[in-house]
Amino acid sequence: MIENLHLVDNQYPWVFRVFFFGLGACLGSFFNVCIYRIPKGDSVVKPGSRCDCGQSIAWYDNLPVLSWILMRGKARCCGKSFSIRYLVVEVLTGFLFLLAWWLFGRTNPAQAIGIMILCGFLVPAVFIDLDHMIIPDVFSIGGAIIGVFFSCLFPALHGVSGTGIAAGILGGVSSLVGILVGSATIYWIGTLGEVALRKEAMGEGDVKLLGAIGAFCGWQGALFSIFGGACVGTILLLPFLLFRKAFPTSRETDSETPDEESMERKSTPPAFGIPVPFGPMLAVGALLYVFFFREPVDTYFQSMHDILNELTGS
Ligand SMILES: [Zn+2]
Repeated sequence: MIENLHLVDNQYPWVFRVFFFGLGACLGSFFNVCIYRIPKGDSVVKPGSRCDCGQSIAWYDNLPVLSWILMRGKARCCGKSFSIRYLVVEVLTGFLFLLAWWLFGRTNPAQAIGIMILCGFLVPAVFIDLDHMIIPDVFSIGGAIIGVFFSCLFPALHGVSGTGIAAGILGGVSSLVGILVGSATIYWIGTLGEVALRKEAMGEGDVKLLGAIGAFCGWQGALFSIFGGACVGTILLLPFLLFRKAFPTSRETDSETPDEESMERKSTPPAFGIPVPFGPMLAVGALLYVFFFREPVDTYFQSMHDILNELTGS
């Protein structure tokens, strides 16, 4: 079975690439439902998709990416425009899945699948954070739990070679250390920031989200997500947030308040008078690490370790 899959992958590499893009796009379609409904406390399963005019949307008008393009973003029932955000989330998730498979599918499939699962938690968390400045626990704590579980089953995610119980324990420990180092570091940065700035600087939602990132990326990835994400995220997000401040979307003017029990309310440091959610920046940092910077970052931490060892003469 596995050999047959390898044969297909060697001869027709596009088969898997199309499959994983399609899988990501389908999940992205589901994430759109999560992003819209979870902050309101609605079920993500029932009822099925409905247009704002009340008509239910048929399955053939609800195909990820394709339906939006074929209908040019308009509802068949009443011609109302759907936000391009739906298309963006579907294409983005499909692209992230495709990239994970493309880069790591052959060399380390556990890493490719692990990245896809991590993206499954990050994408909805990021868009909910952008909309409401909250990160529901189901994505942060849920991601951390699944991350530890996956790391025990597939320790290759953390570069642990071999299989068996010992390798599984090592993978699980790497994941737990990632959670603790990530959450603790961002917690203390936030707490010291609060003392220095005399106002709340970091939300509890960010602390938990970084725990989920650490569960999949280990402590090196968690640390990189904070510092790399803060730099790159600021550059990427500030123009967008400034634009959004100038032209608010209709959803933000909704009077509906999110269900506060199941998630953490966050208050984040304002930049140029705009409250900036930190979750998306952490997610960008995490994605940069898993896709491109894992090797140089891990090598950097290793060389720091070696230098310290030499200095202490051990
Ligand atoms: Zn309609």
